[in-house]
Amino acid sequence: MHKWIDSHCHYDFDVFSSVRQQHWQWCQQQGIQALLIPGITLAQSQRLADFCRHQPWLWSVGLHPYFMAQHRAGEVEQLAGLIRPGCVAIGEFGLDYVVARSDHERHLQWQLFDQQLALAQQLKLPIILHVRKAHDQVAQRLRQRQFSYGGVVHAFTGSEQQAKAYLDCGLHLGLGGAFTHVRAQRLRRTVKALPLSAWLLETDAPDMAPAFIHRDQLPANSPAMIPLYGQLLAHLVSLPLAQIALQTTETFGTVFAQNPFDISGLN
Ligand SMILES: [Zn+2]
Repeated sequence: MHKWIDSHCHYDFDVFSSVRQQHWQWCQQQGIQALLIPGITLAQSQRLADFCRHQPWLWSVGLHPYFMAQHRAGEVEQLAGLIRPGCVAIGEFGLDYVVARSDHERHLQWQLFDQQLALAQQLKLPIILHVRKAHDQVAQRLRQRQFSYGGVVHAFTGSEQQAKAYLDCGLHLGLGGAFTHVRAQRLRRTVKALPLSAWLLETDAPDMAPAFIHRDQLPANSPAMIPLYGQLLAHLVSLPLAQIALQTTETFGTVFAQNPFDISGLN
């Protein structure tokens, strides 16, 4: 059986409460080795260590740009105090220019971005980035700050040039729901143009419903579907499924497992 990892899913969200155990069973039956559950607010980040205890679920701490209204001054410093084994990154944080409509809102997002990037740099941890309509600016900032601990731009849908800019900064790209849709021709071309080792597979469940799921179904997306994303990727790049599973799992280890936690002991 092939081994898989869902590199980005919000498995702690309430929509999973009644089906979580069942879905995790399906995951295990399909060779899914681990999940990475991102932090999005301070309060939710505080709960993740407990939530993931005794499971091969890795997690991160971060303040997501969707929830600006909930974040308070000084919270980035508090994130640092939450880090313990199992916490493998800072994020998800980033810039969302779809949500931020005014200069002021963009300024607030940048403040949080810079603080969390500095924290990751200081703690030598990789980052999980959420970026919409701001790829050029974010890549430029990563270069300016000479950030050197890698990470992932999750749910990447930018251009090939933007993808390469991130790779040059030592980041990887998260591939999920978007590429399952036939209309995502540009993204599919980018996937084919870059080496397989650039990509991590992610469901972003419960959001980002893939094309093969009926939208009325709840949850519309689940980490249990990651092998389906893998099959689609194998088809797209004309490589054997075994190679997709092996490479994406290995890449995940390269990005997230070195410091401070080793997933090899997680089987
Ligand atoms: Zn997310």
